[in-house]
Amino acid sequence: MPNFKIMNYKTLLQLSAILLIAVGCSTRSDKDFIADIYKTASCDSTSYHNLRVLSKNYPNRLCGTSISAKAIEYMKEVIQGEKFDTVYLQECTVAHWDRGVKEIGTVYSSKNDKIKLAVCALGNSVGTPVNGIKAEVVEVKSFEELDKLGERIVKGKIVFFNKSMDPNKINSFEAYGEVVGFRFAGASFAAKYGAAAILVRSCTTAIDTFPHTGVMRYKDSKEIPAFAVSTVHADVLSKLLKEDSRLSLYLKSDCKFLSDEKSYNVIGEIKGSEFPDEIITVGGHLDAWDITEGAHDDGGGCVQSIDVWRIFSKIGYHPKRTLRVVIFMDEEMNQRGGKKYAEMARLNNKKHIFALESDGGCDKPIGFSLETDSTNFKKVGLYSNLFKPYGINNFINGGSGVDIGFLKDQKTVLAEIMADPTHYFDYHHSGYDTFERVNKEFLQQGSATMASLIYLVDKYGLK
Ligand SMILES: [Zn+2]
Repeated sequence: MPNFKIMNYKTLLQLSAILLIAVGCSTRSDKDFIADIYKTASCDSTSYHNLRVLSKNYPNRLCGTSISAKAIEYMKEVIQGEKFDTVYLQECTVAHWDRGVKEIGTVYSSKNDKIKLAVCALGNSVGTPVNGIKAEVVEVKSFEELDKLGERIVKGKIVFFNKSMDPNKINSFEAYGEVVGFRFAGASFAAKYGAAAILVRSCTTAIDTFPHTGVMRYKDSKEIPAFAVSTVHADVLSKLLKEDSRLSLYLKSDCKFLSDEKSYNVIGEIKGSEFPDEIITVGGHLDAWDITEGAHDDGGGCVQSIDVWRIFSKIGYHPKRTLRVVIFMDEEMNQRGGKKYAEMARLNNKKHIFALESDGGCDKPIGFSLETDSTNFKKVGLYSNLFKPYGINNFINGGSGVDIGFLKDQKTVLAEIMADPTHYFDYHHSGYDTFERVNKEFLQQGSATMASLIYLVDKYGLK
């Protein structure tokens, strides 16, 4: 204890000032602290700038590609510039699916008119024979309809799944859930009846000429080529079929698998001051489909995750628990990055108390979706009032992110930030997902929202 008697007046004043700051810090309310977080985020456009570089210089960064390797190097440099205690790469092996030359989709009417369609191969699809496939088209809106038509009608034809995403659903993820099965599993359903290929209406409510790709899988069937078609051209084709059911469609693609590649998650770590063995992870995925800049999906989620530490660092908040920012690889194809991260966490006996992902686009943040037991959900839900001034009104216990999902059986409380979903599927997996579609203020509000929840979880812990 200092001896006040022998201290001079100046020293005493200095000590009082330090004590006042210390008391002020410790008693600063969560409300004020969170206000500081939002203010700090709104004044810092570093992430917006980094997202521009990532989107423009490293687009089409599907796992396994050389551009994805360069994007990893770029993200490592970004993280290294942010005063983390440790920055490292975590190796994982990824598949390398290659689209090859641009796909062709052409309708030939019986009068031999040619109409070009905007199409793209679905991820994981086999290519067509070198001369393409020319066949009649069977349009369906459900698997039941396909079952009814059966082999007699379907054999040798191109099955056209033309089910629109429901525009009446306020939560577009729900509408997406109703149609994504055609993209994901349609090829195997159609192949059962001898179809030559499938063409799927893009999973979006936007009416435009962008085909939206996404992963598909084969299951117990012949592997037939699978394509997506833009919504405008799906409508064109449907109309033409009503006029001429015998028209033919020519499809050509060149996609194939190359050999597996070594790839990496990029990790930045800050050691916790009180509970270094308890880990809080925040992340997004770096890979993006090969026809997109991947700004909303999910470059934005990556830069927001890095923002969490940048904001803390600017405010002078050192987390009690170890904070890991994880930029995952291969969310879109096989989630090898997420799997590797969880595998290493288990192997090294690293206790992850909380993981937060940002992979729902970076439009205006509206809440959090959690995946946990009722005790922890209740605990996190108690913080919800602190978020209301910022328009964050949704705390639901209804699922989290794909990459962090592999931590589920390690009893980690999982969460995903929710952004306004209205336009997310306009961008999703298409050439429309460019940097220009990202709003700077919404991006920064998302960062602040994530940082605020992590601050609360770090400060008070979980059950
Ligand atoms: Zn994503």
